[in-house]
Amino acid sequence: MTDYDPDFHNPRPEPYQPVIRALPHPGELDARGVPITCPKCRARRDWLLLNVGPQVFVRCRCANEWPEPDLTRTYFDQHYTEPDREWDNFADAMRALAFDGLLAGAVWDE
Ligand SMILES: [Zn+2]
Repeated sequence: MTDYDPDFHNPRPEPYQPVIRALPHPGELDARGVPITCPKCRARRDWLLLNVGPQVFVRCRCANEWPEPDLTRTYFDQHYTEPDREWDNFADAMRALAFDGLLAGAVWDE
């Protein structure tokens, strides 16, 4: 007799991992104590933080994007509160968030 459960030792499938997680950051971002500035259009705020694997990228409204080593995956996880904002396709994500460059230079009056 045995109550061995054949499923017990089977590894569970990996949890679903979205390719991209996006975290809008409307204000200034000063991971180093100095506000980040877009090297292309000199914007100082209204960022989109992107988590792809272990890396975090900053993306500007002008569609310029660069890896920001001062922003860690941990930082991202701490601030990420919108699990519905996940896409498998980068282009779809950028279009949905209006960070595909169409709004480059757009200034929002609050
Ligand atoms: Zn820019």
